[in-house]
Amino acid sequence: MFVGGMLSSSGDRFWKSGSFFVLEGFRALTEMTEVEDKVVVVTGGSSGLGEATAKLLAERGAKVMLGARREENLQRIVSDIKEDGGAAAYRVTDVTDRDQVENLVAGAVEEFGRVDVLVNNAGLMPLSPLDALKVDEWEQMVDVNIKGVLYGIAAVLPRMREQHDGQIINLSSVAGHVVPPNSAVYSGTKFAVWAISEGLRQEAGDEIRTTTISPGAVESELTSKITHEETARGTSALEDMAVDASAVARAIAYAIEQPKDVDTNEIILRPTAQAL
Ligand code: NDP
Repeated sequence: MFVGGMLSSSGDRFWKSGSFFVLEGFRALTEMTEVEDKVVVVTGGSSGLGEATAKLLAERGAKVMLGARREENLQRIVSDIKEDGGAAAYRVTDVTDRDQVENLVAGAVEEFGRVDVLVNNAGLMPLSPLDALKVDEWEQMVDVNIKGVLYGIAAVLPRMREQHDGQIINLSSVAGHVVPPNSAVYSGTKFAVWAISEGLRQEAGDEIRTTTISPGAVESELTSKITHEETARGTSALEDMAVDASAVARAIAYAIEQPKDVDTNEIILRPTAQAL
């Protein structure tokens, strides 16, 4: 364990500034919770941020359970992770169906014995002005971005209470803090994710950690679902400045690896060039 230039090892004791103290005590005070061996469920694990997160966490030794609808993608990602020596499995999951989300989490317990972290990442962003009345898309966003997150919480919370340990990480967005043009409904769902996470944090007590991640523009398939043509054309500037999905994966890994008594409640990260 790296403990800074002042320390040197002596059996299971350490020397610091003129005095010895016992390693166990030192560990209790400072040890990071490792990503290694944690069982992490990632919704929306079939592309973009979910895929990057699953791969990075698996590289660092986590056992990852991926859920999404596109089975071919899930198969490919799980097989990539296994080829690199990691542990991964998937369940085809539509997060708008509570039973399927429950099945995803049960799958993690079945395959890996428990669930330590849920990354509530599945989401979609078909931006449009309200006047376009894309009511089906509004409903989809509410169902996936809000209800999907709630179903995830419902699936893990009782288990985490029972284990006296756990972490729930919800993907909001910069659009969960500001309302860019044509983002009324999407922002509404991401403000809701922020509010749900904050409420969860207050109710969670001292054993369950909650984290809200709010990214700005990140490379993924997110903008490909925009069906309003003028809005789609307007996203090209954001796409040009978008950062790699690994930036979000690193933020998630950071939140997981903090000591158990440190809850990273929120991370907002934007491309340096992004103003709004
Ligand atoms: P992608 O479109 O690449 O990924 C979205 C993921 O959500 C896919 O894996 C998709 O899987 C999954 N998904 C969509 N609908 C469902 C559903 N009904 N059931 C299960 N899974 C579903 O975009 P991102 O990776 O960018 O998005 C991930 C999250 O990050 C979203 O919540 C998004 O709002 C958020 N975000 C992204 C930003 C960005 O700039 N990229 C910025 C801020 C936030 P499948 O289609 O296989 O079901």
